[in-house]
Amino acid sequence: MMKPVVIVPEDQPLTLANLSPSPSQRRLALAVALSFLGVLLVSAGTLSNIQLGRIDAFVPAYGTAIFVNDLITAVLLFNQFAILRSRSLLAISTGYLVTALMVIPWMLTFPGLLTPDGLLGAGLQSTHWLYVLQYASFPTFVIAYVLLKDTDPPKQSWDGSVGTTIVSSVLMSAAVVCSVTVVVTAGDAYLPRVSIDPVRFSTLWLYLAGCLILWNAVALILLWIRQSSVLDLWLMVVVCACAIEIYLVSFPDPARFSGSWYAGRIFGFVSSILVLFVLLHEITTLYAQLLHAVLAQRRERDARLVTGDAVSASIAHEVKQPLTAIIASANAGLNWLDRVEPDLDGVRKAFGRVVAAGHRADAVIENIRAQYRMGARTRASLDIDDVIQEALSVVRDKLQAYQIAVQARSDERLPRVMGERIQLQQVLVNLITNAIDAMAAKNGERRLSIKSEARQSRYVMVSVEDTGKGLDRDAVDRIFNPMFTTKTHGMGMGLSICRSIIEAHEGRLWVTVDTSRGGAIFHFTVPVDPDGSASSIAASAASA
Ligand code: ADP
Repeated sequence: MMKPVVIVPEDQPLTLANLSPSPSQRRLALAVALSFLGVLLVSAGTLSNIQLGRIDAFVPAYGTAIFVNDLITAVLLFNQFAILRSRSLLAISTGYLVTALMVIPWMLTFPGLLTPDGLLGAGLQSTHWLYVLQYASFPTFVIAYVLLKDTDPPKQSWDGSVGTTIVSSVLMSAAVVCSVTVVVTAGDAYLPRVSIDPVRFSTLWLYLAGCLILWNAVALILLWIRQSSVLDLWLMVVVCACAIEIYLVSFPDPARFSGSWYAGRIFGFVSSILVLFVLLHEITTLYAQLLHAVLAQRRERDARLVTGDAVSASIAHEVKQPLTAIIASANAGLNWLDRVEPDLDGVRKAFGRVVAAGHRADAVIENIRAQYRMGARTRASLDIDDVIQEALSVVRDKLQAYQIAVQARSDERLPRVMGERIQLQQVLVNLITNAIDAMAAKNGERRLSIKSEARQSRYVMVSVEDTGKGLDRDAVDRIFNPMFTTKTHGMGMGLSICRSIIEAHEGRLWVTVDTSRGGAIFHFTVPVDPDGSASSIAASAASA
């Protein structure tokens, strides 16, 4: 039968009490329950006839361990209650607290443990009856948990203060346990006899043990029918363990300190610690998962902010150049018109340049968007020398304005490359513009050399060399960092954008400094097109 999946509302915290168990958690719980059953079969058959005799240290060790385990489980569950404010969780955490507290009078009344007749001076029957009540209370609380869990959602949550509720629950549990202890020990003489002597159980005990097993079975069935969370799953395992423990303690050999009695007690301890470990493990795993999710969310948010900053800075940086070209060309056109005899041919050319720069700005913006959008890149087989010529034509006016001589050289049979034309053009325009700026800031020879050559038959390397002011050691280390600039109106984004474009092309961008002449040389590589034939463009030289 398919179990209903709990849908946790977005605003509800993830806890063991409202998370659906995964298939692996179900398998683990089943494996644990089956191993319990295996232990039952083995120990019931083999240990029934073994008489180990009384081991004095056993009862206090067992009692303390059960007390600590149940108390820690109660604290964990109260914590879940504090988060979810669910009545059912309050019931089960109180249940664990009561079973933990009941261990105290059980140990105190155990004959021969602290005094020969038990510390509270109770008779023979009290310890047994306290055990019965302890083992009857746990499935009762589990049943309350299941029934409260299934009530209508508005009735489920607790309206009162969590702290006060937990304190009241602790006080009430302690009061109930104290009252039960007083009544049972004081009325020992009137209690039905469940043991014949200090060691052997009576037939009534067996009936009571049978009832306890059945009561646990009822809790198990209810949990099975209405299970929906990780907590439900492990409570089913606990209830099974309780039933098995009662069976081992009572039926194979109905006497204290028999082999099966010890086996039952050890089994009870192992199962309680196992379940506690599992609960702790589940809580820690859940915490780790939540932590990962939170950190991933934070990283994603930071990345989005960085990307947002980078996109806006990139657009501002890259669109500046075509905008300047548009303004310059439009001004030139106006000048042609302002003449006594307007030069319409000049105007037409100026408008042509305006249109071309406008298209370029459009393409650049589209490319910046594509750069930050996964999978939106369109690579094609390119002749890198064509891209170099296109880039040079974009900055032609500036090169002319600063009277810069341009020298472009290329390998005779240069392989084609795989790349995004506009992006590679952007890289070259950025490198050339920087070179122009560096040369404009210095008197002397102004020469821009662009070289393209094949590298290890897998790459084409392009070098952009200038005779500008060059770079000092410190600047070489930082120029590729976003926002690093030495220019008054610079944004420091150009080289960082260039590097990310080239790296996205699986290439490399770096700088070397020409110490003899003082200029800078920027190099970048782009992978060759494996199917492309060699470019036919031969070495060319141009002068602006
Ligand atoms: P921006 O051009 O806005 O300053 P870039 O990232 O393109 O941003 O360049 C960063 C810095 O690198 C420049 O400010 C400049 O100091 C230095 N730089 C870049 N190219 C050269 C070059 N060819 N020669 C000397 N310095 C350069």
